[in-house]
Amino acid sequence: MGEYKATIGLEVHAELKTRTKMFCDSINDPEEKTPNVNICPVCMAHPGTLPVINKEAVKHVLKVGLSVGGTLADFTEFDRKNYFYPDIPKGYQISQYKYPLVSGGVLNGVKLTRIHLEEDTARSSHDKGEYSLVDFNRAGIPLMELVTEPVVKTAEEASAFARELQLLLRTLGASDANMEKGEMRVEANISVSTTEKFGTKVEVKNLNSFRTVERAIAYEVDRQSKALERGEKVIQETRGWDEGKQATFSQRLKEESHDYRYFPDPDLPKLKISELKELSEVNLRKGLPELPWEKRVRLIREFGIKPESAEMFIQDEQMGIFFETVARSLGSKASNWKPCFQDTGFSLAENYITSDLAGFMKESGSLGNVIAENFSGIIQMLIDNKISSRGAKEILLVMYQQGGSPEGIADTRGLLQKSDEGELTEIVKKILDDHKNIVMEYKQGKTASLQFLVGQIMKVTKGSANPQLVKSILLKILD
Ligand code: ADP
Ligand code: MG
Repeated sequence: MGEYKATIGLEVHAELKTRTKMFCDSINDPEEKTPNVNICPVCMAHPGTLPVINKEAVKHVLKVGLSVGGTLADFTEFDRKNYFYPDIPKGYQISQYKYPLVSGGVLNGVKLTRIHLEEDTARSSHDKGEYSLVDFNRAGIPLMELVTEPVVKTAEEASAFARELQLLLRTLGASDANMEKGEMRVEANISVSTTEKFGTKVEVKNLNSFRTVERAIAYEVDRQSKALERGEKVIQETRGWDEGKQATFSQRLKEESHDYRYFPDPDLPKLKISELKELSEVNLRKGLPELPWEKRVRLIREFGIKPESAEMFIQDEQMGIFFETVARSLGSKASNWKPCFQDTGFSLAENYITSDLAGFMKESGSLGNVIAENFSGIIQMLIDNKISSRGAKEILLVMYQQGGSPEGIADTRGLLQKSDEGELTEIVKKILDDHKNIVMEYKQGKTASLQFLVGQIMKVTKGSANPQLVKSILLKILD
């Protein structure tokens, strides 16, 4: 039998950041710890109450759609997805079926089917003993659902897609998309086949980290391939992920969409998006920030930095803003500045931020007492040979802990390199006088003697001399 090829399609849910819930004015606060405080008759499904569409949520989804190049719906409506479970007080979830807000689009090379809007369900806990508990704070929080085409081939591709989506949602301010907190939830549909024809798919739910997404997919590909190898059939079902066992387990047989008896919700108006001015494509486009993939290209082109550094600046917004502020201030100092590769200032700033400063930031999550202006000062002093790289590291540490200007710190700590040619020449002459035999050896061809003389000068200046300058003065006098 041939190799089993995996086919994966993803369904991702993300809780949207809005002030209030999807269809009522209860507060949308996923962080609320006290159960059942952000609730009202609408999200508790009291008879006679009516839902009202939250425009902010619609806007978030449309912006995501625009960012991924999807087609925004002009006409859209909400449907009732009927099922019975205590986490859904109405007996149905308001979702979108036939007319999603967004169709198509591509993210991280993966084709999207659709993006629609629905409401989140209540949170139920079944681990309390003889009874179950339901917290309705989450019921009715706006939830975006994004569905991909079955085009993903590997577990790594799937988690890379989820990471890029998380970054996009954060960049747009649409969702905090924290997987551990359940703000972003990934479901993976997985099938294997030896031919071009897709095999039977299995849906795996409850994947609450990128690592779990990868492991669950790898596990399923392996399980399904082995089952087929044994001559068994793959059953279409929904499976969960057991973190302890690092394995998927069967939860229930998959329901078909006709089981849900979808139909347009008669309590909600149909939306004609083009008639809502603030949701027009032109206005939405104006409100789009620079997107992660645009920023990647720009940072590399504008500052000539390494792709890994650009990635760090994109993932950590604070660090990214800091780098750009520093880079711009360095750039504007040079009169002939234009965006170019191999600019010493940019690459020095890049290196000190992604190594030293990133190390400090990892501990505290902040820039400490470092401000961009002072940091640029360190870079400028390095360029001007006023400090050594060792000195720069020491200044940065002091600056992070206590603050202060680079000149001030360098001065009090004796880190300024002597770059005054006249002053250094005097020192060099004295050293040469003291080591006449070494000078002789050098003149007879022992080139290693030069390094010894440089070392002597560094010693008497306590390392404060600029070594390049010392060397050039020495050569000038000796040759
Ligand atoms: P269902 O009607 O069972 O929900 P959909 O057609 O809506 O199925 O697809 C749900 C998800 O499953 C989508 O992400 C889709 O790309 C993916 N999918 C569909 N068929 C397969 C398959 N054979 N293997 C893997 N994923 C699939
Ligand atoms: Mg489906």
